[in-house]
Amino acid sequence: MPAVNKILSKCIVEEEEDCLKSADELLTMVDQAIPGLRSPGQRLDASLPWLCHVCGKGHYSANPIYSDLTLDVHVAGRLNKWGLDLYVCDVCRHAELFLNNMSANRASNPF
Ligand SMILES: [Zn+2]
Repeated sequence: MPAVNKILSKCIVEEEEDCLKSADELLTMVDQAIPGLRSPGQRLDASLPWLCHVCGKGHYSANPIYSDLTLDVHVAGRLNKWGLDLYVCDVCRHAELFLNNMSANRASNPF
């Protein structure tokens, strides 16, 4: 949706100088937005590029700096540790977290 909002912000304006100057500029913006609109940030396959659903320009990749992330979850007075994978967009730095298969306490992983 940010891509559509960006286009609309250049088409629906109060001041003429804030508006796109030509249909060619609009076409360029629409052409740039289409790939992101066709695959709105869904992670379909780990082997395919994963387009950022925030900026629509960058792609997520695993961040090795945070390869040992865990989440401590307290349930009914008991501590559970879940392993997490962190993916970061290479343009806007938006981050997504997923529970990984190496969860420290898999029995406590509800997923
Ligand atoms: Zn991004």
